[in-house]
Amino acid sequence: MAKVLKCGDLMPGCNFVVEGKDVPEVVAKGAEHAKTAHGMTSIPPDVAAKVQAAINEVAEAKSWRTPVHRCLPIEFSWLRQCSGRIA
Ligand SMILES: [Zn+2]
Repeated sequence: MAKVLKCGDLMPGCNFVVEGKDVPEVVAKGAEHAKTAHGMTSIPPDVAAKVQAAINEVAEAKSWRTPVHRCLPIEFSWLRQCSGRIA
């Protein structure tokens, strides 16, 4: 199950979203982002625990992610209607 981590949950104001196929991958990418974007050269254990807690399943996070996902069924039904009208 793919995982996502919103950096904004830990760093208010940051819009960065980390995605990975599993928790270790998200943690690794998150650590890299924390280093490059927030100047955190190491992740203290308490922050690491918060990172673990902030990681969500992609499915749960769907609603805030990209609106495209929510629009797809609407677009599909529109396309069906559209092609039906053309035919
Ligand atoms: Zn960030």
